Amino acid sequence: MKRAIFPGTFDPFTIGHYSIVLRGLSFFDEIVIGIGTNQAKKTLFSVDKRLEMIQQAFEHEPRVKVFAYNSLTVDFALSVDADFVLRGLRSVGDFEYERTVADANRTLTGIETVILFTESKYSYISSTVARDLISYGKDISKFLPPNVKL
Ligand code: ADP
Repeated sequence: MKRAIFPGTFDPFTIGHYSIVLRGLSFFDEIVIGIGTNQAKKTLFSVDKRLEMIQQAFEHEPRVKVFAYNSLTVDFALSVDADFVLRGLRSVGDFEYERTVADANRTLTGIETVILFTESKYSYISSTVARDLISYGKDISKFLPPNVKL
């Protein structure tokens, strides 16, 4: 059984995140989405709301599970018996950070990181832009996975 975690803040979970998970399912048997909650940064959506939105997105996909965690990401991976971390890469801006974290995780535990390039049609989508639009009262349904309502 090949199991990966897909960790992130997901504030909110976007169609870009959704696409990475669906594509990951073509080579992982199971993906555990981990909502990281240990950061000092304040989020717009509560953990419960983020859990609910992600569960809605994958309600017909039994190979995707969702949990919140407040430990180190590799400890979360070990706790759910995952050997891989799945991440998405939008641009060179994401690259250095992802490389450093992936190196640290592999050195600490042997857990490998698998990176997928975003589909170009989603490369401009980010949780930050979604939150900005919400703050101006705009509809962000195009940024969200199908079936997900705010
Ligand atoms: P973090 O705070 O850990 O960066 P995010 O919720 O911002 O968490 O992102 C989680 C993962 O999803 C990261 O690997 C990020 O690069 C990736 N990601 C974010 N937006 C997109 C997108 N539009 N397309 C593909 N991957 C994305």
